Amino acid sequence: MIAEIIVDLSNESVDKIFDYKTIEGLQAGQMVLVPFGNKVIEGFCISIKDTTEVPVDKLKTVEKILTVAPVISQQMFELASFMKSTYHLRMVDILRLFLPAEMRGGKVREKYKNYIVLDEKFYDEEPTIEFKKNAYQQKNLLCYMRANHVADFSKICEMFSRSAVMALEKKGIINICEKIVERRPVVLQLEKKDVTLNEGQKYVLDKIISSENSQFLLHGVTGSGKTEVYMRVIENCLKQGKSAIMLVPEISLTSQVLSNFTSRFGDKVAILHSGLSSGERYDEWQRLKTGKAKIAVGVRSAIFAPLENIGAIIIDEEHDSSYISESNPRYNTHEVAEFRAKINNANFILGSATPSLETYQKAQSGKLKLLELKERVNKKQMPKIHIVDMCAELSRGNASPFSYKFQDELKKCIDSNNQAIVFINRRGYSSFVRCVDCGYVAKCTDCDVSLVLHKEDSQLKCHFCGKRFRVLNKCPICGSDKIKQGAIGTERVVEELQKAFPNVPIFRMDNDTTKTKNAHFNILKQFSECLPSILVGTQMVAKGHDFPNVSFVGIIDADLSLHFADFRSNERTYQLITQVAGRSGRAEKNGIVVLQTYSPKHFVYKKAVENDYLGFYNKEINLRQITNFPPFSKIVRLLFVGGDELRVKEYLTTIFFKVKSLLKEYGNDIYYVGAMNSPVKRIQNKYRYQILLRYKENLHNEIIQKIYDIVDENKDNKVSLFVEINQQNLS
Ligand code: ADP
Ligand code: ZN
Ligand code: ZN
Repeated sequence: MIAEIIVDLSNESVDKIFDYKTIEGLQAGQMVLVPFGNKVIEGFCISIKDTTEVPVDKLKTVEKILTVAPVISQQMFELASFMKSTYHLRMVDILRLFLPAEMRGGKVREKYKNYIVLDEKFYDEEPTIEFKKNAYQQKNLLCYMRANHVADFSKICEMFSRSAVMALEKKGIINICEKIVERRPVVLQLEKKDVTLNEGQKYVLDKIISSENSQFLLHGVTGSGKTEVYMRVIENCLKQGKSAIMLVPEISLTSQVLSNFTSRFGDKVAILHSGLSSGERYDEWQRLKTGKAKIAVGVRSAIFAPLENIGAIIIDEEHDSSYISESNPRYNTHEVAEFRAKINNANFILGSATPSLETYQKAQSGKLKLLELKERVNKKQMPKIHIVDMCAELSRGNASPFSYKFQDELKKCIDSNNQAIVFINRRGYSSFVRCVDCGYVAKCTDCDVSLVLHKEDSQLKCHFCGKRFRVLNKCPICGSDKIKQGAIGTERVVEELQKAFPNVPIFRMDNDTTKTKNAHFNILKQFSECLPSILVGTQMVAKGHDFPNVSFVGIIDADLSLHFADFRSNERTYQLITQVAGRSGRAEKNGIVVLQTYSPKHFVYKKAVENDYLGFYNKEINLRQITNFPPFSKIVRLLFVGGDELRVKEYLTTIFFKVKSLLKEYGNDIYYVGAMNSPVKRIQNKYRYQILLRYKENLHNEIIQKIYDIVDENKDNKVSLFVEINQQNLS
């Protein structure tokens, strides 16, 4: 018998199936060691077959089976081949997504701990053994063990002594044994809430659980109780003996969603996200694989949870950009989830207060069943949004970053002992530093971007590669000391607010304050425990949090995402504003939102104020249709990255020539094709060029395969080429 093996090396030249003579007991899905060249490496057995074309004398034999049971199921192999053909990925890169990294390379395995167990004979009966007179520790230990029966080995050695433990073991009174311990991630524990569904929630739940293999969009305003619906859907899956997957955006993981899930479902939930230690991730994965846990909750990679018989796959906050993977391997979580739902006959549910245009259009055209929750639970009002024109503010003589309305409302909020959230989509102290006299702007040496001032650690930082530089007191070009700072960021907002409210605790949540494990969790926990208090942050503060005492939300510079040269900028801005605003006034207290802008008349703001998603959608979808942008087209970017600029350009030219020839065949159905350098031309000393292509949506399957063929036929081993489809971030 022959085993088909994918070797665990991510390299173009070995991206194929290798045949080996199998060994006894080997099954598809197990990990193995195989001889490869003059080394022995790990690999995945993907199937067992009868024959091979490889001549017998060339055929090597599998050396060892590494996993007791298959770790990749048949279902996952099906998913892998779907992903391979859709995204043109290497098989090994896909399989690696399916397993915790710790599983490969023999890194982390189960954690064992030693325990002491009292022999059952002595539970009720005193042993008849004579102790030496001064063997107090042994006597005490025996006494302790008769009371407790089981105890932790190292703890006991500390309490008594190791020699006492060994002595009792020798006498046959206790046994020392090994047990697997599970490492579980920490989650904020909330009290279990018993809520009675309102009519809207009941209707929605009923629609979902009375279907099978159906696709839904749950469009519910912020605070309408979507999470409660998800939990009931999952409860229903468990009742039917099925499992479920629920995905949440990267940062809202620390939000109460998780706590709600763990308090409702206990050990039945496994949590998968990047903030876990490797041991925790491995153990959570094992709990799913062995069926101890039936619900996987996590970020996009949780879609690969090792579950069988899935009853529902839910994508919460489906509009969130973290669902599209931006580095290798690139994939679209929605598509992967949809495929997995189909092969399981599972319900597929997308939920959001601000669905992406692509998704809402599918609901309008009937591809997704639209379910709506139009009111907040308990009929709470939606927060009132006030637009402040910052140009007018300036002419009234207010040059501070905070408008008068902002200052007033924040003060009212603090005075009434409530909480405020202040949102600014820029981290650091100021966006750039520039010499007033000669115009010099401090830039990263390795990337083509300006540096951001971080005052608290007195450094200029590159937000692309993380490199740090000394703060400038003098211009390195002309020697002038007139150094001007750019627009304000989170650090500076905290500094200014602290001046205004010296006694109010202010918390900051951005990439810089959340690097360490559990940092998000700790910041949110502290914030939730202080009254009054202020939370300042980047878009992390917009995501899914449910704090009942928040009555003020301030948006410092709403235009930041609006004037981005990206076809999604209107959509992003609408979503961001609605989401941040939605953090306010969720419980008894009424919420107020102050939105500062230089374009107060923009339709995006108007629609956000009116809380009119449909109005926004109609206008924006119309715009997209007229201009042939997604969802009416697909945008494909071929990204070329390499250290030798000339070579990158040469390779780009070769491919561009071939791609352009597609115009002959498709003519006007290809709306655009062009080659250029990427918006950020250099990152970490690697040059970045791109080909952009925009074509009619319904030709996607056909055209993308032709592009993959072009890429396959024209390789350059010195330049990396990535194909991205409808990418969220084109830097
Ligand atoms: P969404 O996800 O739609 O923003 P959540 O699910 O976070 O809303 O619900 C908002 C709050 O309302 C939560 O604190 C939740 O426990 C509570 N809640 C949900 N459904 C009900 C209900 N039927 N009755 C009372 N409270 C509810
Ligand atoms: Zn200068
Ligand atoms: Zn850099």
